[in-house]
Amino acid sequence: MSLPQFRLLRPRALNEAIDSLATHEGNVRVLSGGTDLIPSMRQKLFEPEYVLDLHGVTELRGIRPQSDSAVEIGALTTLSAIEKSSYLRRHFSVLTEAAATVASPVLRNMGTIGGNICLDTRCLWYNQSLTWRKGCGYCIKKDGDLCHVAPGGTKCWAAFSADTPPALLCLNAQIEIVGPNGTRRIPLKEFYTGDGEKYRTLLPTELVTRVFLPRESADYHGVYRKLRVRGSIDYPLAGVAVVMKHSNGQVEDARIAMTAVNPAPILVQRAGEMLIGKVIDDALAEAAGDIAARTAKPLTTSALTPEYRREMIRVFTKRAVLAAASN
Ligand SMILES: Cc1cc2nc3c(=O)[nH]c(=O)nc-3n(C[C@H](O)[C@H](O)[C@H](O)COP(=O)(O)OP(=O)(O)OC[C@H]3O[C@@H](n4cnc5c(N)ncnc54)[C@H](O)[C@@H]3O)c2cc1C
Repeated sequence: MSLPQFRLLRPRALNEAIDSLATHEGNVRVLSGGTDLIPSMRQKLFEPEYVLDLHGVTELRGIRPQSDSAVEIGALTTLSAIEKSSYLRRHFSVLTEAAATVASPVLRNMGTIGGNICLDTRCLWYNQSLTWRKGCGYCIKKDGDLCHVAPGGTKCWAAFSADTPPALLCLNAQIEIVGPNGTRRIPLKEFYTGDGEKYRTLLPTELVTRVFLPRESADYHGVYRKLRVRGSIDYPLAGVAVVMKHSNGQVEDARIAMTAVNPAPILVQRAGEMLIGKVIDDALAEAAGDIAARTAKPLTTSALTPEYRREMIRVFTKRAVLAAASN
């Protein structure tokens, strides 16, 4: 599958990048590590006239601890840098653990946290070659108007399938977005729409530039568990992140989030809240797993059945809660 023709834009500064996005609005795609964009372009899911390569915008790279244990992470920071950061491992271990499960070492050397947050939603009927999609009559997400996953439906159910967002949601992360009208900072959970087609609230002229982890979320015990077909290199088909803080043997705070089973990564608020003030045991961890499984809405977007993926959300939530409690 050959790459479509495009013109490469290589800005050296953030304002130059934003200017380019505004100039070529609607006809340009952003490239960070390119580990998802390039395969998608080969499949002709995107055929932009321009590709905006952010590599030269060095101000968007790096992990910057703040004086109060909070941290700022540039959108171009690679997943390897996050995985290997001793600061993040010490204070925000759920993020380093989730980053370490993404794809393979080579892809983590290229792939960035910004690209992971912005990752396109995935579906068996979408992530295919042009010939394959044409043979099936296309779908709502690209070039068609029918959904093979929810026949008769008008909404796209492609699954959001990146590993770091559930960890970031558990840490109450915020993201910075920059566009021609200035800079805004929003909680990550407001970034996702829950619609597989228009899955994020980012304007075509905007970039995700930074991720902020607050001091209040530092030093929670964190665990990430993930289901995938090939253990050494694959997107999640179900993923659960859990963070927990203890005092006097009881849970002072707990948060649970999941990925790859809905069109957005989701905080399962009720499952986290039910643990607060309790001592974790098998039954409690199982009850949290039941709530998470009921919140998951996997459909036939992948090779594994929805029933199996939902069951694995239950199992992983239980295991992750028990593991976070014993950390
Ligand atoms: C074989 C294989 C296995 C994979 N396995 C996993 C996996 O296990 N888990 C997982 O999470 N991912 C996986 N991926 C996908 C990918 O490698 C990662 O999600 C990676 O983090 C994407 O980052 P990137 O910088 O390469 O993004 P890119 O490919 O550069 O971009 C991804 C998308 O985000 C947009 N984008 C990128 N940066 C920005 C920005 N700063 N602002 C606005 N939009 C932006 C791009 O336009 C594009 O739409 C896999 C990919 C492959 C090829």
